[in-house]
Amino acid sequence: MAALGGRAGAALLRRGPLPGLGAEPRRYRYKEKWAATAPRIPPTRLALHHFDINYSLQLKERWPSVRAGLLCEQKYGALLNNFSLPDHVTQELELLNATDFIAEATKKVRSVAAAEEAGRGQSSAGRMVMQAETMTQAEMSPPLCASMSSNIKCYTFPRGDITRFRPARPNTLGILDYYLMDAASLLPVLALNVQPDDFVLDLCAAPGGKTLALLQTGACGHLAANDISISRTKRLHQILHSYVPKEIREIVNVTSCDGRDWERLEGGTFHKVLVDVPCTTDRHSVMEDDNNIFHKRRTKERQMLPMLQLQLLMAGILATRPGAEVVYSTCSLSPLQNEHVIERAIEIAETQFNIAVRVEDLSHFRTLFQDTFSFFPDCRLGELVLPHLTANFGPMYFCKLCRM
Ligand code: SAM
Repeated sequence: MAALGGRAGAALLRRGPLPGLGAEPRRYRYKEKWAATAPRIPPTRLALHHFDINYSLQLKERWPSVRAGLLCEQKYGALLNNFSLPDHVTQELELLNATDFIAEATKKVRSVAAAEEAGRGQSSAGRMVMQAETMTQAEMSPPLCASMSSNIKCYTFPRGDITRFRPARPNTLGILDYYLMDAASLLPVLALNVQPDDFVLDLCAAPGGKTLALLQTGACGHLAANDISISRTKRLHQILHSYVPKEIREIVNVTSCDGRDWERLEGGTFHKVLVDVPCTTDRHSVMEDDNNIFHKRRTKERQMLPMLQLQLLMAGILATRPGAEVVYSTCSLSPLQNEHVIERAIEIAETQFNIAVRVEDLSHFRTLFQDTFSFFPDCRLGELVLPHLTANFGPMYFCKLCRM
């Protein structure tokens, strides 16, 4: 039939008996068939469709650029491994024009402090100019200054530079020199601001990028790293073995429990808790059909994510001692998985557990790291890094809560 398509084909079929041949031509009956199943739409297409509807409302004119970022190659940062004495590595990275974005921010804080100091002796007009050019005192709040001395070093290439890092290399003892990860994933760890000898819980820790960053601070007195998935916990063990010497690994306790049960196991114990929850992993969802949460058969699981996230955040809050802090994070742009979970958790902590929780202001992160990341300026609670073609990190949402 295909060869007889169009007008020519139709004309041929209409033709009567050929002249001189009396027999009627054979007729064939074609039955129209209906497909038994709807055509399979790949989960990546479903995800993009879903995001087009929801994120265009949320991000408005920013959505096309965020969308382009999500669909392009993501950028990495190289988290230096302080346990492998990486002096020559920093030189190598700096020759390539990469910089440690955290050290750069520290320099900025110091230059502001120096400028403020100098400004005290100046006229008020001069001071105003200086403040407009740099940061205000409020933007360099004490937690920020403290988190800036966290020992975490992460190299990134400048905006618009899409050079790739070489794979990590082992030192003579077999310890790898750096860990490649989305540099925005370090922001929740910096926000946690681990202090010397803190007891830290990483409730959903695998495969372990943030656990490794927590250890780089050199400040954890004890680190509980948990993840429900046994296979992913194995990956966490591998990372610890590849990056962390034995004596440091001894402060880490790796478990494979359902994080929602944590309160029953070790409630009220920790100074700092990281709750880096499972989410729609937006970048993965639009790029990879394998293991995609937008697969039709995972619809229920996807719809239940905000509930699971809320339960995990509640478990994180209940794992803290009074005065302690929790950082909640996702790699999704979805307010349902971000701000709404925070709001519900604060409400439940108050009404069901009589625990007062306050949201900490992290807006100074925006000022400090604006050269490296594109932040969403209108996030109601917490901070959100938006993918952007010139700085293609994230999405990364993070919000800090303090248990009163
Ligand atoms: N923090 C990790 C990192 O930086 O490498 C990434 C964590 S990933 C976003 C979310 C993790 O939550 C997954 O490894 C998943 O296995 C885990 N998870 C899902 N449900 C959980 C639960 N009920 N309790 C604990 N972990 C859970």
